[in-house]
Amino acid sequence: MIPSVFLDKQQLIEQELKFGNYSKKVFSSDESDKVLEIVWERGIKEAKKLKTNDIINLISEENIMVEISKKNYIFNYIVFSEYNKEKNKIILYEKPIKEIFIPSIPEKFFDWCNYNKVVKLFLCHEYFHYLEINYIGLTNEKIKTYTTLGFFKVKVKLKAFSEIAAHAFVKEFYDIW
Ligand SMILES: [Zn+2]
Repeated sequence: MIPSVFLDKQQLIEQELKFGNYSKKVFSSDESDKVLEIVWERGIKEAKKLKTNDIINLISEENIMVEISKKNYIFNYIVFSEYNKEKNKIILYEKPIKEIFIPSIPEKFFDWCNYNKVVKLFLCHEYFHYLEINYIGLTNEKIKTYTTLGFFKVKVKLKAFSEIAAHAFVKEFYDIW
């Protein structure tokens, strides 16, 4: 499977919705494209403000710690990195990054097949979650969508929205197009 950040916008959105076990059916049909566009633009907008900076500097300015874990973190799915807000720490899982992520990078993005470089993608992704938690609000809290249950319109929160925005942030930050 191609890592989301190396997919184009449409494929990326579809993959992330699928990871979250959502199909487009979750949206009221007239809304899905509009809502997803807002989610996407949220990541792009933040990246445009920050992309002239080095991600390492941004992280140290905010006193975010970075830990490289040798653990193979597999829950229901593979985790390459995470942000722990209690400890204000980004954890990178070296083994799955080296053994699963890097070999899945498409040839077109061969330049990224380098551990020290690819680590920046994860730092950047988690930095967006840091921004969400500390400054701009969680994308999946801010942007809600509706689904229909029989006659009812029900509000739903999609965790996938935060992921889609984080991937958009990284793509814009590093011009991965
Ligand atoms: Zn994420």
